[in-house]
Amino acid sequence: MGVRLLWFRRDLRLGDNPALHAAAGTGAPGIGGGEAGTVLPVFVVDPVLWGAAGPARRAHLARSLRALDADVRKGGGKQGLVVRYGDPAAEIPRLAAEVGVEQVHVAADFGPYGRKRDDAVEQALGRVPFVRTGSPYAVAPGGVVKGDGTPYRVFTPFLGAWADHGWRRPLPAPDGVEWTGGRGAALPDEPASGVPHLPAAGERAAYGQWADFRDGDGLADYAERRDRPDLPGSSRLSVHLKFGEIHPRTILAEIDAQATGAAKFRAELAWREFYADVLWHRPESGRDYLDARFKAMPYDEGLGAEEEFEAWQEGRTGFPFVDAGMRQLLAEGWMHNRVRMVVASFLVKDLHQEWTRGAAHFMHRLADGDLASNSHGWQWVAGCGTDAAPYFRVFNPVTQGRKFDPDGDYVRKYVPELRGIAGAAVHEPWKLKDGLPKGYPERIVDHAEEREVALARYAAMREGR
Ligand SMILES: Cc1cc2nc3c(=O)[nH]c(=O)nc-3n(C[C@H](O)[C@H](O)[C@H](O)COP(=O)(O)OP(=O)(O)OC[C@H]3O[C@@H](n4cnc5c(N)ncnc54)[C@H](O)[C@@H]3O)c2cc1C
Repeated sequence: MGVRLLWFRRDLRLGDNPALHAAAGTGAPGIGGGEAGTVLPVFVVDPVLWGAAGPARRAHLARSLRALDADVRKGGGKQGLVVRYGDPAAEIPRLAAEVGVEQVHVAADFGPYGRKRDDAVEQALGRVPFVRTGSPYAVAPGGVVKGDGTPYRVFTPFLGAWADHGWRRPLPAPDGVEWTGGRGAALPDEPASGVPHLPAAGERAAYGQWADFRDGDGLADYAERRDRPDLPGSSRLSVHLKFGEIHPRTILAEIDAQATGAAKFRAELAWREFYADVLWHRPESGRDYLDARFKAMPYDEGLGAEEEFEAWQEGRTGFPFVDAGMRQLLAEGWMHNRVRMVVASFLVKDLHQEWTRGAAHFMHRLADGDLASNSHGWQWVAGCGTDAAPYFRVFNPVTQGRKFDPDGDYVRKYVPELRGIAGAAVHEPWKLKDGLPKGYPERIVDHAEEREVALARYAAMREGR
C-alpha cells in the first residue's frame, strides 16, 4: 500500500475528519481517494503561526497535539504524530521525499495566510498530488452565494441560504487505519510562564464539553442565558472549534433546529461561518478596514492614548464591567461574547483608538483567537464591518453591566478590589458614599463626553469634512 501524508492543521481530531478518510482510502460516501493507503500523520510547527500566538494559544495547541498523538498511538500508530519545525513549504515536500509518499492530504484552509501557504506547498510538491478534502466549516467559505453569484454582505439572509444549502453527515473515525511514521522532532512544549487557566484540550475533551452542554441545561436555556457573563450560559466550545477538535457538522447533526435554544445556537455557529466567508471574499479585511472610509477618521495617539490603551489592556479603566472582561481575558484566554462587544466599543468609541490595536491584543491573548471571527467581531462593533452595528450605537459600560450582570457577580469574580460591594452597586463604585475602594482606579474618561466626541468624528467622516 502506498503511503499518504496527512497534514493536520486546524483539524486536530480523528472523528468526523474527511481528510483522514481520503488519506486512508476508506471509501466513505462522498469522499474521493480511491485505493486504501497507509497514513503518515504530520504536524508542522510553523514559526509564522507559532510566533504570532500568545501563551494561551500555544499552550492549548501543545496540549491538543499531545492528545492527538496519544489517539494515533492508541489506534495502532506506534510512532505517533510526526512533528516537524519550520516553513511548511520546505518541511512537507522534504518529508514527502524522505518517505516517498504518493499523496499529501489536508482539510482546506480558507484564511489568507493558509491559502498562500498551501499554494506554496502544492507548488513545492511538484508531481505529488496535494489533495484538499473538507474544511473547518459546515459549508466551506464561498459555498453560499446570492442568486446572482455574489457573496452575502448581511448576516440574516446568509443564515437562511446557509441553512438551505445544508451540510454532509458527520463521518465516524475510520476503523483499522494503517498508520506509519517518519523522522520527526519532539512535540512542542507549552510556554514556561504566562499560561492562563485553560479548559482541557483534545478531541475527547471537546466532545465531552459539547455533550455536557447539549444534555445539561446549556442548550435548552441558551437563548435566555447566552448574554449573561455571570452565568455559565454559553457553550465554551470556541477554542475547540478553533483547533478543529470537534467539527461544527458533528454539533449540527446532534441538535434539533426547531427547539428555541438550539436554533439560536445554530445561528451563532453560522456567524463563525459568515465571517469566514467574508474573509474568503475579502482577505485584506483580516487586518484592514472593510469599510475604508473609517480608516480616514481621526484616532487618538500620543502619550495619553498609550496610557489609556495600557489601562484598557490591564483592566484598569475604572469601569468595572470593562475591567472584569479585560481581566477575564488575561486570566482565562477567553472572554464572554457580550463583554467582548462592550470592551471593544470602549476602546474604539470611548478611547477613540483603532479597532486593529484592540484586535491585535485579543489575538495575542485569546486561546480561541481566530482571524475571521476576531477581526470581523471588532469591525462589527467599530461600525466598519459587514452587517455592522450602526456607529452611533455606543455601548454604555454601566447600563450594559447592570443589564447583563444584574447582581454584579461577574465583576466581583474578576475584580477583587470591588469584592466588598454587594449587588449591582458594584457597577458604579464612584457613587459609594465612602469613596472608591482602595486600589481601584478612577474612571479614565467620562463616558457621556467621549460618546459625543465619537459621534462628532463619525458625522464629520460621513459628511467628508
Ligand atoms: C470583538 C470580538 C472578538 C471576537 N473574537 C473571536 C475570536 O477570536 N474567536 C472566536 O472564536 N470568536 C470570537 N468572537 C465571537 C464570540 O465572542 C466567541 O465565539 C464566543 O464568545 C465564544 O464563546 P462560546 O464558545 O461559549 O460561544 P457560544 O455562545 O456557545 O457560541 C457557540 C459557537 O458559535 C460561534 N460564535 C458565537 N458567537 C459568534 C460570533 N459573534 N462571531 C463568530 N462566531 C461566533 C463560536 O464558534 C462559538 O464557540 C469575537 C467577538 C467579538 C465581539
